[in-house]
Amino acid sequence: MKIVFNEATTLKNSTLKNDLELCEKYGYDGIEIRLDKLKEFLASYTVDDLKQFFASHCLKPYAFNALEFITFRDEEGFGQIRRDLQFLCEIGEQIGCQTVIVVPTFDVGDYTKSEIKTETVRVLRELAEFSEPYGVKIALEFCGYPNCSVNTFAQAYEIVKSVDSSQVGLVLDCFHFHAMNSRLEDLQAADPMDIFVFHIDDCEDLPVGALRDHHRVWPGDGAIDLDGILRTLQSIGYNDMASIELFRPEYWQWEAEATIQTGREKIEKVLRSYFEIKTV
Ligand code: ZN
Repeated sequence: MKIVFNEATTLKNSTLKNDLELCEKYGYDGIEIRLDKLKEFLASYTVDDLKQFFASHCLKPYAFNALEFITFRDEEGFGQIRRDLQFLCEIGEQIGCQTVIVVPTFDVGDYTKSEIKTETVRVLRELAEFSEPYGVKIALEFCGYPNCSVNTFAQAYEIVKSVDSSQVGLVLDCFHFHAMNSRLEDLQAADPMDIFVFHIDDCEDLPVGALRDHHRVWPGDGAIDLDGILRTLQSIGYNDMASIELFRPEYWQWEAEATIQTGREKIEKVLRSYFEIKTV
């Protein structure tokens, strides 16, 4: 099981350059690069600098985060998504980053689940058709907010299965899974090959529908049934990666080094009962 760092965890207290160096130092296998931090990095450095870094270190790029609100967009809005996808595909091809995470739209109005499925399948197919020549896959991340158009594992998986392409898969985020009561039996029925990215985190003990990203806490410190999720992943044969993704303002007050070091320790502690991981 690869241990990966998602840059949201140090959103306000670090840069891509700093995250790269610290993730290497603390033995992460991979990093999920945020689009905003990548653009900021490229103001001072080049894509070639990034390529050289990955070529000369153990740390590898795992995915880009994220193209947001991909569905029910007007022509101008979708045009920006296409441009951002092209930007990420061109860089992904050079640095060996093969997955782009995409997020469904919130507050879409009174569309039925069937209409949402039709629209989301259509958009995922279009994005995947564009990214395939670059060797880049598309991973749909459902969000466990009541107003997200795709907000449970079962709903997201039904969409991904309907797309029916090896280029399109799911992001399983423990927070989003827990936040809208997604069911372990649905995860139990999934094909592990369809889970492209696994976000590990935990959260405060709030009721269904009340949880927001800032309630996330270190894995093992909160109310999510992580053992249930990890046991299920193990039983279906998932053994790819786990990426720590928190958005907690309290942790953004820390030194980035403390955040990245603590994340590595916390993730290892919750994973090691279920998966083999490289120790550092
Ligand atoms: Zn996530």
